[in-house]
Amino acid sequence: MNISATPKSVAAEAAQILERLGVEPSLYTGGTLAAFSPVTGEQTGDLKVVTSEDAAKAIDAADKAFREWRLVPAPKRGELVRLLGEELRAAKADLGRLVSIEAGKIPSEGLGEVQEMIDICDFAVGLSRQLYGLTIATERPGHRMMETWHPLGVIGVISAFNFPVAVWAWNAALALVCGNSVVWKPSEKTPLTALAAHAVLDRAIKRFGDAPANLSQVLIGDRAVGEVLVDHTKVPLVSATGSTRMGRDVGPRLARRFARAILELGGNNGGIVCPSADLDMALRAIAFGAMGTAGQRCTTLRRLFVHESVYDQLVPRLKKAYASVSVGNPLDGSALVGPLIDKLAFDGMQKALAEAKKHGGSVHGGERVDCGTAESFYVKPALVEMPKHEGPVLEETFAPILYVMKYSDFDAVLQDHNAVGAGLSSSIFTLDMREAERFVSADGSDCGIANVNIGTSGAEIGGAFGGEKETGGGRESGSDAWRAYMRRATNTINYSKSLPLAQGVSFDID
Ligand code: NAD
Repeated sequence: MNISATPKSVAAEAAQILERLGVEPSLYTGGTLAAFSPVTGEQTGDLKVVTSEDAAKAIDAADKAFREWRLVPAPKRGELVRLLGEELRAAKADLGRLVSIEAGKIPSEGLGEVQEMIDICDFAVGLSRQLYGLTIATERPGHRMMETWHPLGVIGVISAFNFPVAVWAWNAALALVCGNSVVWKPSEKTPLTALAAHAVLDRAIKRFGDAPANLSQVLIGDRAVGEVLVDHTKVPLVSATGSTRMGRDVGPRLARRFARAILELGGNNGGIVCPSADLDMALRAIAFGAMGTAGQRCTTLRRLFVHESVYDQLVPRLKKAYASVSVGNPLDGSALVGPLIDKLAFDGMQKALAEAKKHGGSVHGGERVDCGTAESFYVKPALVEMPKHEGPVLEETFAPILYVMKYSDFDAVLQDHNAVGAGLSSSIFTLDMREAERFVSADGSDCGIANVNIGTSGAEIGGAFGGEKETGGGRESGSDAWRAYMRRATNTINYSKSLPLAQGVSFDID
């Protein structure tokens, strides 16, 4: 592959897409934040960065918008999100392509990311007519007790590079139907897709007609801008997606001012292949889970435990798949594995592989693939056979490394599976009902996502998404995740002519 023949094409194509989506060139030229495409390493923009003062002003403006928006009936708020879904459908090809250019995803994954945005819009539209609470039995006669759910305020969204727009949509679609305004700080590594996605929302807002000004905003900048969101008292909830390192800073800061946090942090996801597993199916699921998105999904499969009775059947086939997988320019449509996001990611991968060797690991793959430019970082995905569950296996390295280990005892492998800091996604491949049920039971996988006979990655939006332990404990997307974006009030209404106190307490004054 030789992509050096067209070094200017990526930036030019990005500019064309941005123009079609209605993003003003002044927003991505003449600034100080350089945007790059990992596909060629080419610079795609230099964006204006907001100052901390401007970020604080944006939050004040969003707070004002919230006070108006919360009075709009929820189904009408849903109409705005319905329009967003429509606009996303119309923009899918362009936005998906831009995701590929800026995050290096292969075309079907770039488009899949936009499809996820569309799906959450559909979900949120339905939700806008289902924001209901409970009616609860009361111990007092002539009383009624109920729960009501109210809009919360400005929702801060901080997102990572690897899902540059879907994570915003997961949060924004729910936040908007719940009656909140949104301020988004996207990753500094993927600012163009953020501008593009927001331009799509602007179209929907225009068609909607009377949404308050500044209902949704995007703040371009690095972590310093994110910190303004984290510390601002007018932001009652910050949904922050990124590394566990980021969460260790953001979590306590939010807690200090009693703000809510949805923390969606790192994963170190495990899979177990049992003696009865359908190996053909497992092979495909493992290959996508571990090599897809060049190992840069939070749900990427990183640790694989294979029963000793099937190890010699599965692992050689897996090695073959690793050796033959096509690595290359994701834009030309033939590669399955695109680039790493940057040199930092490449260095991190090489460091982890060197560590693995020190722990007796046998490394297959992992070397840089020559793609014609010094500034892009393509690698062969690495499969590492490890004698023990230790060393670099215990940490997330955000790159395509799959550590493979042999096991013999189911209880012991469950223990190893859970013996890492992160707790995001997990899967088991088995046709044995006892193993499957155990894995999803109280003493099975300790992760937020536990799958049977499918891989660790590629969640649907209908379920609540997130993980335990060092993954942060947050949930977003489907199920009842919407509740985090609303304020719950318990209301007791006395329609009787007396005032009985709860628990039989008497307090009679003359
Ligand atoms: P990162 O932590 O470097 O950055 C994520 C975002 O946080 C960026 O927008 C960054 O500017 C911001 N940020 C960093 N430090 C901050 C601080 N102290 N205060 C406020 N904002 C701060 O992560 P990344 O490299 O972009 O993404 C990869 C990581 O994200 C991986 O660990 C991956 O597992 C994780 N991730 C998790 C999920 C999930 O849902 N659990 C989803 C996607 C990615």
